[in-house]
Amino acid sequence: MTDTAAPRTPTAPSNELATPPTTAPNTAPASGTRTVLGTCHHDCPDSCGWVVTVDDNAEGETGAAPVAVKLRGNPDHPYSAGELCPKVNRFLDRVYSPERLLYPLRRTGPKGSGEFERVSWDDALAEIAENLHRVIDEHGAEAVLPYSDAGNQSLLSLMGLSGRFFGHMGATKLVRAICGVTVGAGMSKTMGSPRGLDPMEHEHSKLMILWGTNTRLTNRHLWPTIEKARANGARLIVIDPILCKWPAW
Ligand code: SF4
Repeated sequence: MTDTAAPRTPTAPSNELATPPTTAPNTAPASGTRTVLGTCHHDCPDSCGWVVTVDDNAEGETGAAPVAVKLRGNPDHPYSAGELCPKVNRFLDRVYSPERLLYPLRRTGPKGSGEFERVSWDDALAEIAENLHRVIDEHGAEAVLPYSDAGNQSLLSLMGLSGRFFGHMGATKLVRAICGVTVGAGMSKTMGSPRGLDPMEHEHSKLMILWGTNTRLTNRHLWPTIEKARANGARLIVIDPILCKWPAW
C-alpha cells in the first residue's frame, strides 16, 4: 500500500504505450487540406475529442478522393485535453492499412492456422443462412446466441437491424454487455448505487483510494484530475497486489 499527501504540480500521464502525434495539435492545415473536428467512436466513456486533417485531393486507387492524413487529440476537449490513447493514436494506420479485412474469408485449415480463402458476399451469406437453419432445425431458435455490443456506437450497429433480425428468428436474448453491467453490479454492491461521479468532480476530493486499478495507464485521462486534487492537498492511497507503474512520490 502506498500513501501520499504530497501536493504535486498537475501533469498529463506519459504516453509510454504509444507514439504520440508528431505535429502540434494547433498547426494550421496545409493548403489543399481542411480540419474536421470529431469524437472517438469507441465504446469508451472518455469520448475524446479529435482533430482530423483531411486532404480532399489525395490520390487513391480510384483517383482523387478525400483522405484523412493526420489525427490527434483536441486540446479543447475538457476531459482528455488533447491526448487520445494507445488504442487510437495510430487509428489512421488501421483505417488505411492494406491488411484491413475488406471481403469475406472462409477458413480452410484448422483453427489458428491462419488458412483462409476469399469467397463472395453471396456465398458467405448463403453459408451463414444454411448453418443458422441447420442449428434451428436441430435444436430450435434459442440455440442461436447473438453476442455483440456497442461496436462503433452507430444506431445501426448498436440497436438497429440485428435486433430485429434475431428477434424475428426467436434467438436467445442476452443483456448484450459484459463490462458495463458488471461495473454497475459492483458499484451497487459497494456504493449502493450504480451511478458514479462526473470524473472531473474528483478534482475537489480530499481523499482518493485507488484499489486494484492501474489508473495511470488504463484510465489515463483521469490522472491529470487526480494530480489536480493532490495539488489541492488531497490524500491519495494506492492498494494494489501487483506493482504498477506509478510516478515517483
Ligand atoms: S480513451 Fe481512447 S478509446 Fe477511449 S474515447 Fe479516448 S481515444 Fe477513444
